[in-house]
Amino acid sequence: MPELPEVEIASRQLRAWALGRRVTAVQVGKTRVIRGQTPEAFAALAGRTLVGIERRGKWMLLLFDRGLGLISHLGMTGKWLRRERAAPAPKHVRATLELSDKGVLDYTDPRLFGRLIAGSVEALRAHPSLAALGPDPLGGVDAARLYQALQRTRRSIKEALMDQGTLAGLGNIHVGESLHRAALHPERPADSLSREEAALLARHIEESIRFALEAQDGPEPIKYVEEGGENPFLVYGRAGEPCPGCGSEIERIVQGGRSTFFCANCQPRTAGRRPSLPQAKAKPAKAKQPKTPAKARAKPPAKARSKAPAKTRQKPAAPAKKR
Ligand SMILES: [Zn+2]
Repeated sequence: MPELPEVEIASRQLRAWALGRRVTAVQVGKTRVIRGQTPEAFAALAGRTLVGIERRGKWMLLLFDRGLGLISHLGMTGKWLRRERAAPAPKHVRATLELSDKGVLDYTDPRLFGRLIAGSVEALRAHPSLAALGPDPLGGVDAARLYQALQRTRRSIKEALMDQGTLAGLGNIHVGESLHRAALHPERPADSLSREEAALLARHIEESIRFALEAQDGPEPIKYVEEGGENPFLVYGRAGEPCPGCGSEIERIVQGGRSTFFCANCQPRTAGRRPSLPQAKAKPAKAKQPKTPAKARAKPPAKARSKAPAKTRQKPAAPAKKR
């Protein structure tokens, strides 16, 4: 399924194939992909030259001259393909743009979850789907902002990251991969993550995206894993296979109606390494609390306690990894 890296690659391919080319003819079927619009709405693109492509999360905005635009979301199975005009059309074509260089761009989408929206660039930029997007993680994830966003929800970390308002472009694959890389259990409440864990997660989101871009970038259209394409991912689609980190069996659970793949050994449910913290250190801190007469004094011990785990984190983590 296309997520940020796959859409980024699609936008690079479209730029290579069509930037600076004029659209000579447009054909759009009456399909779910253009829901809410008539095929005629796309006719205005004929005669326009593609001058740019912007990508935000999983959304692309194709910019044509004289202020016209085309939003493209690939949904689950959408793909842009290029062929020569004389070559036979591929299957499941929902829209076709003929180009001035005799090339043809076909938008194919067997399952019809994709979107094509034509209009003025100004109107398209203000489209609710684009306006609702959080920051795009390709240029780097702001760890402090991510921490703040996660603090605001009690949903699971998996579901919070699936929300395009948290970060734009992550989906089932890259949320699962990032959580695995960051050793975070997908069912942890989002607001249970510490600043350190959010920072770790931010780095691994960047890493997961970078990895997918490197593994999949090229001139050929991507064959999605669901279509039988090669699976380059660590845990995605690998239930029952050994975890690449520890050899334990990768599990599959369902969250928000979607599969989550993870390793229960590498991604323990408990926050941080709390269970293996020395009990003796935590207890005296608690015991001191009732003795403090003023309410204000209750805060310093609480802070001290939350700092203690961070300092001792390295020690308990090491034996856990050897398992
Ligand atoms: Zn593992």
